[in-house]
Amino acid sequence: MHAILPDLLRVANANARRMGWSREFYALKDRLLREYGQKQEACDIQHIADTCYTCYGSGKIDPPRVGAYAEKCYHCYGTGIYQHRYVLLERWQLGPLTFHANPVRLSTPQASTISGFIEHPGVEYDDSMRAFFCLAALYDPPLALRLAKTRRYKYGCEWWPGRELLRPSKPEPAAAA
Ligand SMILES: [Zn+2]
Repeated sequence: MHAILPDLLRVANANARRMGWSREFYALKDRLLREYGQKQEACDIQHIADTCYTCYGSGKIDPPRVGAYAEKCYHCYGTGIYQHRYVLLERWQLGPLTFHANPVRLSTPQASTISGFIEHPGVEYDDSMRAFFCLAALYDPPLALRLAKTRRYKYGCEWWPGRELLRPSKPEPAAAA
């Protein structure tokens, strides 16, 4: 294991939910945790209250309608919450850091240890993409090549290795001694 692996994974993971490549990232993350991490006994249970997409969480209809339920959103019955989800998360130790992996949705409500989505403030999206690219370059080179072939700004990343990596190398004149 490269000493930098836990930190690369931490930085990439911080914005993984928003990434255009989140499916590929999570597949790589799971593999790296299985290969280099230790699964812990303890798990976490995450409770996610999904905001109603009809009233955007307000519980009220805009514009208001006439009638007994005029004020209440018909979709969430005025709660502002579309649904409650309970998700079981494994905990994995990788070097000094702990990661969650392999979410499994539970069918019944449970006492939760995590409320809402886990946020990782302070890590820029671009940094996450760079870390993801480095992870791919180290542990999944074909994926790194696919990432490099992607158009530079497609996923809103200001920095991308891009086509320069893919240009055929020309023989260079020997450096003067
Ligand atoms: Zn609603």
